[in-house]
Amino acid sequence: MVLADLGARLRGALSSVESGSDDEIQQMIKDICGALLESDVNIKLVAKLRDNIRSQIASSNIAQEASPMNKRKKLQKVIYDELCGLVDSHVEPPKPKKINASTKTIKGKKVKLSKESSHVIMFVGLQGAGKTTSCTKLAVYYKKRGFTVGLVCADTFRAGAFDQLKQNAIKANIPYYGSYLEPDPVKIAFEGVSKFKQEKFDIIIVDTSGRHRQEQQLFTEMVQIGDAIQPTQTIMVMDGSIGQAAESQARAFKESSNFGSIILTKMDGHAKGGGAISAVAATKTPIVFIGTGEHIGDLEVFKPTTFISKLLGIGDIQSLIEHVQSLNLQNDEGHKQTIENIKEGKFTLKDFQTQMNNFLKMGPLTNIASMIPGLGNIMSQVGEEETSKKIKNMIYIMDSMTQKELESDGRIFIDQPSRIIRLAKGSGCSAIEVEMILQQHRMMSTMAKSAMAAQGAPGAGGAPG
Ligand code: GDP
Repeated sequence: MVLADLGARLRGALSSVESGSDDEIQQMIKDICGALLESDVNIKLVAKLRDNIRSQIASSNIAQEASPMNKRKKLQKVIYDELCGLVDSHVEPPKPKKINASTKTIKGKKVKLSKESSHVIMFVGLQGAGKTTSCTKLAVYYKKRGFTVGLVCADTFRAGAFDQLKQNAIKANIPYYGSYLEPDPVKIAFEGVSKFKQEKFDIIIVDTSGRHRQEQQLFTEMVQIGDAIQPTQTIMVMDGSIGQAAESQARAFKESSNFGSIILTKMDGHAKGGGAISAVAATKTPIVFIGTGEHIGDLEVFKPTTFISKLLGIGDIQSLIEHVQSLNLQNDEGHKQTIENIKEGKFTLKDFQTQMNNFLKMGPLTNIASMIPGLGNIMSQVGEEETSKKIKNMIYIMDSMTQKELESDGRIFIDQPSRIIRLAKGSGCSAIEVEMILQQHRMMSTMAKSAMAAQGAPGAGGAPG
């Protein structure tokens, strides 16, 4: 079952609870477990999750809760927490830092001075897993966030690997290092890393060879390269469509190259994503990113809370904030005001409008829509084109608002049908669409408040209840 289907099944199971009767709750648990099994999650993990859900429901006195709505909220919180636990390795991966280097001109050339060292990332994995593609995706990801990144191709095994990396790097305007003539991958890796270290690059990403199978020659080469370049972080790239087999592959690689993080690729298409993610989490290795397509931008940060929030259609304001921060909008007045407002637990319609306009600059829409409460569900039902239309309509509606309306918290529209009709006419949308925007704004505003209340906890804004 692909991830979008798994999300729909989980949301369906949760929303099938109406009165909150015991029968309904048991059916919901059964449906959730069924969906996870179909998504190839290990049967033992599902059984454990089922037991945990049952005991959490019992200990949080949900049965005694009188209001069905509160019951549903509490149930959603239990499911959310347990699903997060299922995909969380509870290990924090290392984070690269920017090198604060002053420059000095020596012989007419600007040279960076600093004792700090570059963050060296070594990629390992089987051939075809998506290593070379993911190297460039990661380089682009960090470049967008203001890091200087260099790419090194130490894959001398696969013919054409250097050309592939070079073409990607040129397209993304990222410095690269490799050789058509040198057959020794250890030498290339060492030289490339030394060169970029000397030039004080913040991050150096080293692509290594893969093999079709796990074999001794591959493992020996990984150890030699690792010894030569002393990586700060080793990332294993794994094809996410292999499902539960991800666990044994991760364990085999772990023995020879002590990698600390994982990128799961091909989580688009027909990947039985739930299986691979939970299998990897069971090895206590954090998944840092997931690859969601063949394009350079198809890489998503993997955070258990964000991932589960999206899967359950809850939306995730924390990711939204990070997403927008990555746009480097420090000097954009509207953006600065929004961040200030969010810090104060405020989220006006104008903030909503600013964010919407920023999203359109960022793309792809699939990623953005899933962070907005309510839109992720629509997206999975109607596809990218329709969602894009909806987002544009949202912007037209907000463009038709007066300054006073935009700066309000949205309550100005309560019991004011004439205002709503005016907006509908002004934007060429229906009154229902206007109502929907106001509702989405209310949800995001509540999230902004709860995100600030739980400040410091990553993904906290996405937590339901
Ligand atoms: P390597 O041998 O491990 O370096 O693998 P490559 O980077 O050459 O990738 C192998 C194939 O997988 C290529 O056709 C890539 O375009 C494709 N690929 C890599 N990552 C993804 C992904 O996240 N989604 C999809 N659909 N394809 C991917």
